[in-house]
This record gives sequence, structure tokens and C-alpha cells, in this order.
Amino acid sequence: MTTIAQALAAARRRGVDRLDAQLLLAQLLGCERAWLLAHDDEPLTAGALAQFEARLARRAAGEPLAYLTGTREFHGLALAVDARVLVPRPDTETLVDWALERLAALALPAPRVLDLGTGSGAIALAVKQAHPAARVTATDASAGALEVAGSNARRLGLDIELCTGSWWQAVAGRRFDLVLSNPPYVRSDDPHLAGLSHEPRTALTPGPTGLEAFEAIAGGACEHLAPGAWLLLEHGWDQAAALRLLLARHGLTDPATRRDLSGHERCTGARASAQ
Ligand code: GLN
Repeated sequence: MTTIAQALAAARRRGVDRLDAQLLLAQLLGCERAWLLAHDDEPLTAGALAQFEARLARRAAGEPLAYLTGTREFHGLALAVDARVLVPRPDTETLVDWALERLAALALPAPRVLDLGTGSGAIALAVKQAHPAARVTATDASAGALEVAGSNARRLGLDIELCTGSWWQAVAGRRFDLVLSNPPYVRSDDPHLAGLSHEPRTALTPGPTGLEAFEAIAGGACEHLAPGAWLLLEHGWDQAAALRLLLARHGLTDPATRRDLSGHERCTGARASAQ
């Protein structure tokens, strides 16, 4: 007989993080983590143990915990995620919080908000949840990602519009009062990518400079921003200065940068001129 405590100790010996192992086992047994820890002398059935070991093997091989549990919390929302979408990161909440501040300052009755490259729908859904009056549009070039975003929207009861297409192609001829994006921005030769091999590569890297998606987004910004509207972008820790220049080169003004909770420059924005 293997008890819960023994199974968790074995998981640690395999190099799986303690909290990850507890969350995986709690999900398998259909219990809360607190119950698991309070009853760790209970034996596991052979079936549960075999399933736990299979998941530990995947986790030890680098698969994100969120793909194994099928869920990830983002800005207070429980999102379903799978290998068709990037796992939402806490850093991206910085972008959502900035967007919510802009929306409060705009004080429009039904602001048009756009999330370019939405993936799981994290940004679009968090904005809609916190600012229900917003009319939120989310795009993605990946049909699989839009399926994930759509099912998250239905399950959470949040009404957002989904459009297929690469960057602005998905919303040709339309303007928005606020545009957000967390596009791929990791350079294709960045060694960091090796540790992210289970997530969609197209969601992580746009090409050799890491700036290719920003160029596409900045290039179409003036055509799609309402007068005075802000474009807010998430980026890598060393890309803020390049982003401020790029946005200015494409006619946007008032560039500003925000830091994430770790103190890294994480989001840069600028706005269209007032007329
Ligand atoms: N922040 C992510 C990472 O480096 C990358 C996200 C992105 O490319 N948009 O793990």
C-alpha cells in the first residue's frame, strides 16, 4: 500500500515541485489540497497511483502544470487551457490592470476594446469581467486558440467577439478605443525557448529579432486606433526602449512603460494623436 504522504515524497524525489505534485494529486482524487494534506496517511488505490505516476512523468518532462490540470487562474478567472494556447502568466496581469485604468479614465459608456492574439482569451476575458460595459473583440490567427477562447467565454458567461486573422487582418476597417496585445516576443535564438517547448512556438517567438510582431502591430496602429486611443503591449524585460522608438516611428505619442511585479519593464504603450 502506498499512502498519500509516500506518493508525494516519491514525487519530490523525482524532482517534481511539492506544490505541483499536491495539486496534481488533489485533482486526481477530486479533493481540496487541504484535505489531501490532512489525510496523508490514507492509502491510494492502485489505479490512482498509476494515474498520478503518469502525470508526474509528464510534469518531470517539462509539461506545464496548467496543461496537466487543464486549468489556470488569471486575474481572478479560472481559464481552461491546453497545448493549443500559451499558459497565461501572472506578468500579463500588469497589462490588464493598466488597461482597466485607461478604461476608467476614458469613461466611455461602451468602449471598443481589442485584444490582438488572444490565445486562451485571458486578456480579453479579464477586461470584460472587470469592465462589463466594454465591447471586447479578441483575435487570433490560430483556429485552435479561438476555440479555447470561445469555450472559456461561454463557460464564464462573458460575451466577447472572436475574429480569426493575423493581427489587424482580423479587424480590417475597424477602429478601437483601446488596443491590447501580448504577442510573441522571444527571439528565436533565445535559450529560454528550450524550456518552453510544450507551448505553441508561434505564441512565443515571432522571429530572429523578437520584434517582428510588434512591427506588424505598430504598423497598423494608426489605422485602427480611434483619436487619442491607447495601444498597450506586453514585451520582454529588455525591449521597452525599442518599443518606445517603434511606436513613435509609427506616429504614436506619449510613450510610457510599466514594470511587472518582479520589477522588470514589462508593458509599453503609446497613443494615437487626438484628431
Ligand atoms: N513571458 C513569456 C515567457 O518568456 C513569453 C510570452 C510571450 O512571448 N508573449 O515565458
